[in-house]
Amino acid sequence: MSEAKTDCIFCQIVAGDAPAHVVWEDERTLTFMDIAPVVDGHTLIIPKAHCDDLFAADPVDLRAVVSLSHRVAHAIGHVLHPDGLGVFQLNGSAAGQTVFHYHMHLIPRNHGDPLRMHGRKPGDPARLAELAKELREAMEIA
Ligand code: AMP
Ligand code: ZN
Repeated sequence: MSEAKTDCIFCQIVAGDAPAHVVWEDERTLTFMDIAPVVDGHTLIIPKAHCDDLFAADPVDLRAVVSLSHRVAHAIGHVLHPDGLGVFQLNGSAAGQTVFHYHMHLIPRNHGDPLRMHGRKPGDPARLAELAKELREAMEIA
């Protein structure tokens, strides 16, 4: 596994040195609520091993993230019943990436929502915790 980067906030979350509203953890991946959600239910999936972006990612980690995204998507559907789901990830500052540890965004979308990629303010911690719990429970029963 590649070295954790001490100055990387997502590596700090993986190490338990920074807080997160964790939905799911397995051997290779961690799923948690985005701290500044575009909309209710905005979720991130990362490989635990640090890599800056898609170009640097281990293909085995990428497969693990994509495979898990199927389960997380179903959990979001089960809990929030959005009209649709945006799945995307950004590579490099030119593409709008702001955290340089590869991550996949899953963003529930409803008709009429603005198609923004980044939230503008921190989410309510109590709501983020509630969503993480509900999504985890939905994944456990699936
Ligand atoms: P990107 O622009 O694709 O790199 O997206 C980075 C995302 O990480 C943004 O949506 C941020 O709100 C989110 N983010 C940054 N720091 C944290 C954190 N400590 N916990 C959860 N999400 C975070
Ligand atoms: Zn990292």
